[in-house]
Amino acid sequence: MPGKIVINDKTIAFLEKIIELSGETITLCDQCGTCSGGCPVIHEMDITPSQMMHKVQLGQEDVLESKTMWLCASCNTCTVRCPRGLDVAKVAEALRQVKLRQSIDNVDLNSIPKEDLRELPPIAIIAANRKMIS
Ligand code: SF4
Ligand code: SF4
Repeated sequence: MPGKIVINDKTIAFLEKIIELSGETITLCDQCGTCSGGCPVIHEMDITPSQMMHKVQLGQEDVLESKTMWLCASCNTCTVRCPRGLDVAKVAEALRQVKLRQSIDNVDLNSIPKEDLRELPPIAIIAANRKMIS
Protein backbone atom coordinates (compact mmCIF):
# COMPACT_ATOMS: atom_id res chain seq x y z
CA MET A 1 0.00 0.00 0.00
CA PRO A 2 1.48 3.41 -0.90
CA GLY A 3 2.65 5.55 2.00
CA LYS A 4 0.40 8.24 3.37
CA ILE A 5 0.99 11.67 1.85
CA VAL A 6 1.98 14.15 4.56
CA ILE A 7 1.93 17.88 4.03
CA ASN A 8 3.38 19.95 6.86
CA ASP A 9 5.80 22.83 7.47
CA LYS A 10 8.80 20.57 6.81
CA THR A 11 7.58 19.27 3.46
CA ILE A 12 6.56 22.77 2.36
CA ALA A 13 9.97 24.15 3.41
CA PHE A 14 11.74 21.45 1.38
CA LEU A 15 9.63 22.19 -1.71
CA GLU A 16 10.29 25.92 -1.31
CA LYS A 17 14.02 25.30 -0.96
CA ILE A 18 14.18 23.32 -4.20
CA ILE A 19 12.06 25.92 -5.99
CA GLU A 20 14.47 28.61 -4.81
CA LEU A 21 17.61 26.69 -5.75
CA SER A 22 16.32 25.57 -9.15
CA GLY A 23 14.37 28.70 -10.08
CA GLU A 24 11.64 26.37 -11.38
CA THR A 25 7.94 26.54 -10.47
CA ILE A 26 7.83 22.85 -9.64
CA THR A 27 4.17 23.00 -8.60
CA LEU A 28 3.29 23.44 -12.29
CA CYS A 29 4.27 19.83 -13.05
CA ASP A 30 1.13 17.85 -13.90
CA GLN A 31 2.86 14.46 -13.94
CA CYS A 32 2.33 13.92 -17.66
CA GLY A 33 5.44 11.71 -17.79
CA THR A 34 6.87 13.24 -20.97
CA CYS A 35 10.22 13.88 -19.26
CA SER A 36 10.53 10.22 -18.28
CA GLY A 37 9.52 9.04 -21.76
CA GLY A 38 12.45 10.78 -23.45
CA CYS A 39 15.18 10.42 -20.84
CA PRO A 40 18.20 8.57 -22.30
CA VAL A 41 19.45 7.30 -18.94
CA ILE A 42 16.16 6.28 -17.35
CA HIS A 43 17.16 2.60 -17.46
CA GLU A 44 19.86 3.34 -14.87
CA MET A 45 17.64 5.40 -12.57
CA ASP A 46 15.86 4.10 -9.48
CA ILE A 47 13.02 6.61 -9.82
CA THR A 48 11.98 8.28 -13.07
CA PRO A 49 12.43 12.02 -13.65
CA SER A 50 8.65 12.52 -13.29
CA GLN A 51 8.68 10.57 -10.01
CA MET A 52 11.55 12.79 -8.86
CA MET A 53 9.43 15.85 -9.68
CA HIS A 54 6.46 14.39 -7.83
CA LYS A 55 8.48 13.68 -4.71
CA VAL A 56 9.78 17.25 -4.72
CA GLN A 57 6.23 18.58 -5.18
CA LEU A 58 5.22 16.63 -2.08
CA GLY A 59 8.29 17.81 -0.18
CA GLN A 60 9.50 14.25 0.32
CA GLU A 61 13.14 14.59 1.34
CA ASP A 62 13.84 10.91 0.68
CA VAL A 63 14.19 11.99 -2.96
CA LEU A 64 17.73 12.97 -1.86
CA GLU A 65 18.55 9.27 -1.41
CA SER A 66 17.67 8.50 -5.01
CA LYS A 67 20.34 7.92 -7.67
CA THR A 68 18.32 9.82 -10.26
CA MET A 69 19.64 13.32 -9.53
CA TRP A 70 23.23 12.05 -9.82
CA LEU A 71 22.57 10.14 -13.04
CA CYS A 72 20.82 13.02 -14.80
CA ALA A 73 23.15 13.91 -17.66
CA SER A 74 21.73 17.43 -17.98
CA CYS A 75 21.02 16.67 -21.63
CA ASN A 76 17.89 18.86 -21.49
CA THR A 77 15.79 16.48 -23.62
CA CYS A 78 13.09 16.62 -20.96
CA THR A 79 13.38 20.37 -20.66
CA VAL A 80 12.65 21.04 -24.32
CA ARG A 81 9.75 18.58 -24.29
CA CYS A 82 8.05 19.50 -21.02
CA PRO A 83 4.61 20.93 -21.85
CA ARG A 84 4.80 23.03 -18.68
CA GLY A 85 8.16 24.53 -19.62
CA LEU A 86 9.90 23.05 -16.60
CA ASP A 87 13.65 22.50 -16.53
CA VAL A 88 13.93 19.09 -14.88
CA ALA A 89 17.73 19.14 -15.14
CA LYS A 90 17.79 22.26 -12.98
CA VAL A 91 15.67 20.49 -10.38
CA ALA A 92 18.12 17.56 -10.37
CA GLU A 93 20.96 20.05 -9.97
CA ALA A 94 19.19 21.75 -7.07
CA LEU A 95 18.81 18.38 -5.34
CA ARG A 96 22.52 17.67 -5.83
CA GLN A 97 23.30 21.08 -4.37
CA VAL A 98 21.40 20.23 -1.18
CA LYS A 99 23.67 17.21 -0.67
CA LEU A 100 26.87 18.92 -1.75
CA ARG A 101 26.22 21.88 0.55
CA GLN A 102 26.17 19.36 3.40
CA SER A 103 29.62 18.23 2.17
CA ILE A 104 28.14 14.87 1.14
CA ASP A 105 30.00 13.73 -1.96
CA ASN A 106 28.62 11.18 -4.40
CA VAL A 107 31.95 9.88 -5.56
CA ASP A 108 35.31 9.30 -3.88
CA LEU A 109 38.00 9.69 -6.49
CA ASN A 110 40.58 8.39 -3.99
CA SER A 111 38.80 5.04 -3.96
CA ILE A 112 39.33 4.54 -7.71
CA PRO A 113 42.43 2.40 -8.36
CA LYS A 114 45.29 4.38 -9.96
CA GLU A 115 45.38 2.08 -13.00
CA ASP A 116 41.65 2.72 -13.61
CA LEU A 117 42.15 6.48 -13.19
CA ARG A 118 44.80 6.38 -15.93
CA GLU A 119 42.26 4.76 -18.28
CA LEU A 120 39.45 7.24 -17.58
CA PRO A 121 38.98 10.18 -19.97
CA PRO A 122 40.15 13.35 -18.15
CA ILE A 123 36.82 15.01 -18.98
CA ALA A 124 35.02 12.31 -16.96
CA ILE A 125 37.15 13.08 -13.90
CA ILE A 126 36.65 16.82 -14.30
CA ALA A 127 32.89 16.33 -14.72
CA ALA A 128 32.73 14.10 -11.62
CA ASN A 129 34.63 16.74 -9.65
CA ARG A 130 32.23 19.48 -10.68
CA LYS A 131 29.02 17.55 -10.37
CA MET A 132 29.51 15.08 -7.56
CA ILE A 133 32.09 16.50 -5.15
CA SER A 134 31.43 19.34 -2.70
S1 SF4 B 1 7.33 16.64 -18.67
FE1 SF4 B 1 7.10 18.42 -17.29
S2 SF4 B 1 4.96 18.41 -16.62
FE2 SF4 B 1 5.41 16.38 -17.52
S3 SF4 B 1 6.01 15.11 -15.72
FE3 SF4 B 1 7.88 15.96 -16.60
S4 SF4 B 1 8.27 17.88 -15.46
FE4 SF4 B 1 6.13 17.28 -15.10
S1 SF4 C 1 18.11 16.32 -18.45
FE1 SF4 C 1 18.40 14.57 -17.07
S2 SF4 C 1 16.30 13.85 -16.55
FE2 SF4 C 1 16.17 15.17 -18.39
S3 SF4 C 1 16.24 13.77 -20.13
FE3 SF4 C 1 18.35 14.48 -19.77
S4 SF4 C 1 19.24 12.96 -18.39
FE4 SF4 C 1 17.01 12.66 -18.34
